[in-house]
Amino acid sequence: MAGKRDYYEVLGVSKNATDEELKKAYRKLAKKYHPDANPDNKKEAEAKFKEINEAYETLSDSQKRRMYDQFGPDGPQGFGGGAGGPFGGQGGYYSYTTSGFDDFGDLGDIFSSFFGGGFGSRNSRAHQGPTKGADLKASIDITFEDAYLGCEKEILLTRNETCTHCHGSGAKPGTSPETCQVCHGTGTVTQVQTTILGQMQTQRTCSNCHGTGKVIKEVCEECKGKGTIRKQARIKVKVPAGIDDNQTIVLRNEGEPGAKGGPKGDLYIVIRIKKHSIFTRKGDKVLCDIPITFTQATLGADLEIPMVDGSKETYRIPEGTQSGTKFTIRNKGFKSVNGSYQGDYIFTVQVQVPKRLSKEQRDLLLQLAKTMNEQPPVKKKGIFG
Ligand SMILES: [Zn+2]
Ligand SMILES: [Zn+2]
Repeated sequence: MAGKRDYYEVLGVSKNATDEELKKAYRKLAKKYHPDANPDNKKEAEAKFKEINEAYETLSDSQKRRMYDQFGPDGPQGFGGGAGGPFGGQGGYYSYTTSGFDDFGDLGDIFSSFFGGGFGSRNSRAHQGPTKGADLKASIDITFEDAYLGCEKEILLTRNETCTHCHGSGAKPGTSPETCQVCHGTGTVTQVQTTILGQMQTQRTCSNCHGTGKVIKEVCEECKGKGTIRKQARIKVKVPAGIDDNQTIVLRNEGEPGAKGGPKGDLYIVIRIKKHSIFTRKGDKVLCDIPITFTQATLGADLEIPMVDGSKETYRIPEGTQSGTKFTIRNKGFKSVNGSYQGDYIFTVQVQVPKRLSKEQRDLLLQLAKTMNEQPPVKKKGIFG
């Protein structure tokens, strides 16, 4: 902090100055060196103004003043006002100070224009420029087969669209919106609030123009000055093969219109897949239970396996197939959404024990039973193994 001027000197007061004297001196100097009051000498005035602010910031706070008197501008650890110091970071003085602006009367206006002018202001809002429109959300219910094969769906969506009558200006065609007199077209007004940190400069949306910076004298009769109209839109959505439940498709620029020439928002579509009566899904795999008879299980068989796309695959199971055995048909599962690979189809055979037999079947089974007259031995495994 070498070369930093003494704060008392900056304000032109004595070391014993009262709060009242400090305030008076500060008020006088702030007016004199306000950059807007020095158009020919703006840079210098700006530097001076900062210095005055910094000095007053410190001296008007009894605790900081005590520290300053004790340690000087560099402070015990050189905290005399540099960036990140305890007296506030760079620009910190300009977003709030411990002294009031409002009790300075006409000084408040000086500060308004000062802070509103973009100098040192930390609160400049994005809505002064073009802003992107709001994103919208929708969902589509599709079938298991739709998800497997991919599909194209249409959704009906009520959304705001740019009014075609006034092309979004909100003004009656032939007229145009005028700059708001309250905020001078910036869309924001500066407000001073009292907080525990002291006076806080905040900017809020101008209530006269609702942040648009423009005021419409004669409104468009179609949109009543809003510039947008609620419309029902039909939107085509391509759903890629392989999409999973709860995945989202984003359609760029299908959201609400932007403001001040900003881009449209996006449309987020959540895909919900309905449950299937026989198929389930695990990642990229299609799973299915296939019932077989005990003779098929015993003797082996060629099974007709239903595929998700409606076709059938013939699959030979060997003799002696146990109930619960899983078989894999390669590359008949779900595709990856980008189409780079395809998962497998896995079916599990479930042996059905007949509940009713004809007399002939019963006789045949009795003959069979005579040849297999013993109960199979209990398998040795697990903890008894
Ligand atoms: Zn309109
Ligand atoms: Zn305004």
